[in-house]
Amino acid sequence: MQIAVPPLIARACEILSDAGFQAYVVGGAIRDSLLGLEPTDWDIATDARPEQVEAVFERAIPTGKEFGTITVILEGNPVEITTMRRDGPYSDGRRPDYIILTDRLKEDLSRRDFTVNALAYDPQTKRIIDPFQGRWHLRRRILATVGDPEDRFREDPLRMLRLVRFQSTLGFKIDKKTRLSLPGLARLIAKVSPERILSELNRTLLGRELFQGLQTLFTGGLMEHILPELSAGHTVSPGPSHPYDLLGHAMAAAHYAPPVLELRWAALLHDVGKLETLKRDHARISAQWAEDILRRLHGSNSLIHKVSTLIAHHMFSVHPHSSDREIRRFLAAVGTQTAFELVKLRQADMAGMNADPRMIIDFGQSLEARFKELLTQKQALGIRDLAVDGHDLMHALDLNPGPLVGEILRRLLEQVLEDPSLNQREQLLELARSYQASLLQNGK
Ligand code: ATP
Ligand code: MG
Repeated sequence: MQIAVPPLIARACEILSDAGFQAYVVGGAIRDSLLGLEPTDWDIATDARPEQVEAVFERAIPTGKEFGTITVILEGNPVEITTMRRDGPYSDGRRPDYIILTDRLKEDLSRRDFTVNALAYDPQTKRIIDPFQGRWHLRRRILATVGDPEDRFREDPLRMLRLVRFQSTLGFKIDKKTRLSLPGLARLIAKVSPERILSELNRTLLGRELFQGLQTLFTGGLMEHILPELSAGHTVSPGPSHPYDLLGHAMAAAHYAPPVLELRWAALLHDVGKLETLKRDHARISAQWAEDILRRLHGSNSLIHKVSTLIAHHMFSVHPHSSDREIRRFLAAVGTQTAFELVKLRQADMAGMNADPRMIIDFGQSLEARFKELLTQKQALGIRDLAVDGHDLMHALDLNPGPLVGEILRRLLEQVLEDPSLNQREQLLELARSYQASLLQNGK
């Protein structure tokens, strides 16, 4: 099997080879190519030491020199080249204490996490080098560690989450010995930094076999350490109409949500607050918990904000037969983009309780159609859409800049949301004047 190595990568290998060094394409790119997927990045392994790599290429940046990685610039593009190595002991369970450079490819492949990631390709001879049955596992769609899983997970517990991530993204099964080693080692995940945990969880969440990945996260004992609020749901019922327990419902909802990070997180965490209350207020509590969880994992402010906003509104009450007024108010309250996302979230929520697929599709399509219909009418949904602005008010009502201007605008919007025909300059100024007069009368 030939690997379609991009010309730039082939060129980098050729330059190394002409200088008398070995050069192989390694890791995920070979795995993905053999699976017929488009590789995300191409990594090169060589026996040239980092300073030799720097000497061979005109432009080189030592991006990870302590682990032997140099980024060279070829025809304006960055290419990562890593010196082959063995890892020294991992006394902190995070990074090897030291590395030992090697000129033996097999040694370099043996430090890699899973057999399907321990494949190399020699662009000169066009041969695949596969000392750990990686291709056999690829064909059978199995994830197994290179060497003893206990040792490999103990060395670097992050690999347990990489395992879950690859299960979710590739949809592979996990080799029995690898799988059975998880519960005894799961607590070691506490050694991994929140950023790295979140990064693997994010990639897991975008996988097409998310449900399976989440199952391993739970049965492998990892979830109770990194998302304890979620895993606690396995003994709780989310309510009378639900066929699954709270955890199963959350997992299924996340699986059925479109593969968009905020939506998947929102679906996964939308009901966590039900551990505290099954009442409607669970949306607010879940949103708060989701915020706490994502903050603990050092999520970005924008992720936290989007996820908690979606969760806070997930019990929204508009439906395809709501009045124009109700739908207008909903769109104005949550914003149009969020409104469409909330429909997707509701559909995922319904799928997570095993609702009839026909019903789920109908609900989504009809409600989105209502939103679109109102949006094409270009009715005012925010202060910016009003036929007057702050300057108009200040001028017409002889007001100075201040909070009163904003208050009047908000009041006008309220009325326009009730009756869009009011959104005309003269009418709004008239309303504003009478509001001002009523304030004066009330002695404000
Ligand atoms: P993708 O690029 O799609 O995330 P990948 O397999 O290329 O998948 P990378 O994180 O880019 O993953 O790592 C490149 C290679 O380095 C992997 O294929 C694997 O061989 C090795 N590797 C990465 N992280 C580890 C780790 N924590 N332990 C052992 N080997 C690892
Ligand atoms: Mg990669």
